[in-house]
Amino acid sequence: MKKVIALTLALMLSVCCLAGCGSAKDDNTLTMATNAEFPPFEYLEGEEIVGADVDIAKAIAEKLGKTLEITNIDFDAALTGAATGKYDVAIAGVTATDERRQNMGFTDDYYTASQAIIVMADSEIKAAADLEGKTVSCQEGTTGEQFLLDNEYAVQSFKTGAEAISALTAGKVDAVVIDNAVAKALSSKQDGKTVVLDEALTEEAYAIVTKLGNDELIGEINKALAELKAEGKLAEIFEKYELPYDAE
Ligand code: GLN
Repeated sequence: MKKVIALTLALMLSVCCLAGCGSAKDDNTLTMATNAEFPPFEYLEGEEIVGADVDIAKAIAEKLGKTLEITNIDFDAALTGAATGKYDVAIAGVTATDERRQNMGFTDDYYTASQAIIVMADSEIKAAADLEGKTVSCQEGTTGEQFLLDNEYAVQSFKTGAEAISALTAGKVDAVVIDNAVAKALSSKQDGKTVVLDEALTEEAYAIVTKLGNDELIGEINKALAELKAEGKLAEIFEKYELPYDAE
């Protein structure tokens, strides 16, 4: 009899643990999923996840009176994780698109971006029109990939932007399409071998992802974002990471 009770207790405990693991936790923690492969919005500095999104997340968490807990996972997993409520939010330079709005919640926008083209410095590709018939790499599950698919280019998708640009410098693809600020950050690490073309392929806005219908959290974050904007804190963060920003 004792054994049965012990077993039942053990089972109950493990079920509780499982239910608690990785889920949107207690009220004092804001769990955030990101993909730290997207400089200067989120990237690794040693073991530490840093970047503009991280600073914004910390400032929001502070306003909400919560402790921020960041998990670094693949970009598509970060989106799914927030959409299903495994994490409270995904903050990862995520473009709020109509398609994504079907199954995830979004806060107000906090940054304007576009897709940009990276090519080798000596490339014959000088504009988007020259991409016709070329092979282009991008990051999987992103709006850059969607743009390439919609326009029927030959696409090679990679888990990270860094791998997408490695494919370019290795001569495996003719160009990379990725978010403009990230294109600049990644290209600047290639010793002048690559350039970012001065042409915006899309117009996009970054927002924070939550579970669809989590209006309470969305409302709280929107309030925090508005305050951070009014206080000049957002502008300060973007300036720190040399990100162009129009405070309107
Ligand atoms: N802004 C792009 C998107 O939402 C890319 C984001 C990313 O790769 N982190 O798809």
